[in-house]
Amino acid sequence: MEVFLPLVAQELLREIKKALQETSQISDEHLLGLKFIFGATALFALDLVDQRSVTHVTSPSGRSTFQVTGSSGKLYICYKACHYCSCPAFTFSVLRRGDSMLCKHILAVYLSQALGVCQEMTVSDKQMSEILLPKED
Ligand SMILES: [Zn+2]
Repeated sequence: MEVFLPLVAQELLREIKKALQETSQISDEHLLGLKFIFGATALFALDLVDQRSVTHVTSPSGRSTFQVTGSSGKLYICYKACHYCSCPAFTFSVLRRGDSMLCKHILAVYLSQALGVCQEMTVSDKQMSEILLPKED
């Protein structure tokens, strides 16, 4: 999924991951880098990471996706393979206006993975299809 991020962002995430392995903390410099690249989205995403909001969901057939609990408590699905989030901000800012490259949920997925704080959950294939193809309500 890294192909969807600009090189500078990939590089920063890699650096943060490396620094964490060495010092187990994110430096101010890295935080500023995140804010510079992603703007306010970075702060919201870090909040989500702090709250351990990101869950990597896998099923026996090998499918996997990410569930992110938004700040309002609503659950959003981030499709790793196609860089898509089910939240309204993604539809509006990324798809319609094109003024953001991602929403806070997708950034939280990247950061949780870099920081190694992603929760893991295994579900049945039936549950997975209900997650990936939710019924309209
Ligand atoms: Zn989102």
